[in-house]
Amino acid sequence: MRQKIVAGNWKMNCTIPDGIELIQDLIDTKQSTNNCQVVIAPPFMLLEKAGTLCKGKTMKIAAQNCAAWEKGAYTGEVSAAMIQSTGAEYVIIGHSERRSYFAESAEVLKSKVDITLNQSLLPIFCIGETLEEREEEEHFKVIKEQLEASLFHLSNKMIKKVVVAYEPVWAIGTGKTASTETAQEMHAYIRSLLTEKYNVETAESISILYGGSCKPGNAKELFSQKDIDGGLIGGASLTAQDFNAIINAI
Ligand code: PEP
Repeated sequence: MRQKIVAGNWKMNCTIPDGIELIQDLIDTKQSTNNCQVVIAPPFMLLEKAGTLCKGKTMKIAAQNCAAWEKGAYTGEVSAAMIQSTGAEYVIIGHSERRSYFAESAEVLKSKVDITLNQSLLPIFCIGETLEEREEEEHFKVIKEQLEASLFHLSNKMIKKVVVAYEPVWAIGTGKTASTETAQEMHAYIRSLLTEKYNVETAESISILYGGSCKPGNAKELFSQKDIDGGLIGGASLTAQDFNAIINAI
C-alpha cells in the first residue's frame, strides 16, 4: 500500500522559541497516525533541534531546500550533507516559491534531486502550473515538462524514493483550493506519466501529495481521492490544532 504523508512546510516562519513550542505542541497532541507519515519542514536553523525533539517519535523532519552543490565556496548555502547531519530525512525541492522568487531552473532542480538522493535524503518534489497556464489549457503540458526535466532521468530504483507534490501555483496561499475533481484529475495524470516512463508497480508505489490551501475543512474530501496520498501544507501547518486536524483527516 502507498505511504500516506502529511507534510507541513513552515516556510520563513517561527523563531527558535516559537518553533520549539510548535514542535512540542505537535508531539503532545494525539494524532491518529495510522498509516500516515507526518513530516514537518521548519527553517534550517531549527532542523537539529527538531531532530532531537522528534527522536524516537513518529514525526519526521524535512528541510525546505538544499544547495545544488555538494560543498565549497557557496556563501549562505546549506548542503544536503549538512541537512542529513541534523537528522532530517526529507528535502522539499522545486517549491513554486523557489522556482519563481529564486529563479530555480529545471536543471538546478535536477541537480538538487540527485544531490539529495546521494545523501540518502528523500526529495519531496513540487510541481504545479500557474493560473495563466491553466487558463491557456497548458497545465498538463507544464506538469509533464516539469517531471521530465528534473525527475525522469532517475532510475526505476531511485524514482521510488521520491515523493511528488502537486501544488497548483494559483492555490498556494491564496485560499483557493483546487476542487477534488481537478486535483484528482491531475494526480491521476501524474501517475499515468510515471506508469508510461517506468511501470505500473513503480507508479503505484509513489506517493503524490496535494498542496494549495489545504485546510481542516477540505482535507478529508481531497484525501479521499484515489490518487491523492496526502498533503503538503503551508499556512495550516503553523498551528498544532489545524495541522493535527489535517493529519486526522487521512
Ligand atoms: C505550500 O506552500 O506548499 C502550500 C501548500 O501553502 P498553503 O497551504 O498555505 O497554500
